[in-house]
Amino acid sequence: TTRVIEALAHSRRPVSLPVALSHTSYDILIGTDLLKRAGALLAPLLPQKKAVIITDSNVETLYLERLQNSLSETGITFRTHVVMPGEASKSFKTFESIIDSILEDGIERKTAIIALGGGVVGDLAGFIAASTLRGLPFVQIPTTLLSQVDSSVGGKTGINTRWGKNLVGAFCQPLTVLADVSTLQTLPARELKAGYAEIVKAGLIGSRRLFRWCELNGKAVLEGNTEAQTEAVRQACAFKTEVVAADEREQQASNGRALLNLGHTFGHALEAEMGYDGRLLHGEAVSVGMQLACALSVRLGLCSAADYERLTAHLHALEMPAHVRDLPYSFSARTLITHMQRDKKMQDGKLSFVLLRGIGEAFTSRDIDDHLVHEVLTEDGC
Ligand code: NAD
Ligand code: MG
Repeated sequence: TTRVIEALAHSRRPVSLPVALSHTSYDILIGTDLLKRAGALLAPLLPQKKAVIITDSNVETLYLERLQNSLSETGITFRTHVVMPGEASKSFKTFESIIDSILEDGIERKTAIIALGGGVVGDLAGFIAASTLRGLPFVQIPTTLLSQVDSSVGGKTGINTRWGKNLVGAFCQPLTVLADVSTLQTLPARELKAGYAEIVKAGLIGSRRLFRWCELNGKAVLEGNTEAQTEAVRQACAFKTEVVAADEREQQASNGRALLNLGHTFGHALEAEMGYDGRLLHGEAVSVGMQLACALSVRLGLCSAADYERLTAHLHALEMPAHVRDLPYSFSARTLITHMQRDKKMQDGKLSFVLLRGIGEAFTSRDIDDHLVHEVLTEDGC
């Protein structure tokens, strides 16, 4: 019986989430064991049975062979480029060296770039796909929860500069996204929680139902239940694609894609203060940042204290950081505000935030008084 059940599980069809944009449409496929089926899933979509795989050395060890075998089964040929794991690979240097060797190999216009890895690989490979020969077909195979629910959705790609993160890049929509939740089994618990924070964020922004779902199923997602993970990724991607479809290039000043920055004004300040050295994960900063945005909303009389307590309770139930005081580092409110004032989302010198009228009701707000922000930070443990 076990073997029959296993066979059934393997044959389970992935959940397909259609994404319809102004110039293109594609599907995000979510499920288990998609890497093993990647060749069959991609063969009908690739303009040519040739690909360049870009991955990092951690993911190479864990999953490259699985992908290569399944591509080979369907006659897709490939070359592979492996970068160092970590944010430092989103650099001009890595970008240039990969493009150099791709061109040296004589890449053709129809050869697809396949990103196999987390958000670092996806952002780098996507920008390479967007710019090499003015645009190559692109496939995302995200292997972290963060990349499955966030970075592989929406078409933003890019690299970092000495002036800040993600300041050079391009929009590049993929032919498809294969979100194989089986790969999450090897993801460290901290990384899993960091990605989960972006799912909670989606609920907070626009769906009380998704937030409620998180309260009921968050534990299962973090414990590695693949059905819960598939459903979590589906809901988060459905939410993000809806927001993105309405504002593809983040041209709306308020609401639109800007809402996806809930918790990020505070979060980026925390990350900037740590010097982006990897000690504080982005999702951890966002987790605390959402709570601070909620606290600021309560302080402005916009959001109920009950919703604030609910958010804290959920994050703490999953042992995620909710307050500045939950982090093992100390921060000064003054310095954090200085970082916020340098944020690229600043407009006309005013602090801009995404605030909440309650769980599931976010809106953008400019012109928030520094003193209030200072008070909220101090009360939270700065
Ligand atoms: P990451 O790509 O650095 O991956 C985190 C770590 O997990 C790495 O060490 C990686 O090697 C490892 N890893 C990946 N898959 C694994 C697996 N299945 N098992 C075990 N280990 C695995 O980080 P991330 O959190 O996935 O992405 C962060 C990046 O995403 C940042 O650069 C951020 O700017 C970017 N981002 C982009 C967007 C966008 O819209 N383009 C949105 C959000 C974040
Ligand atoms: Mg984020």
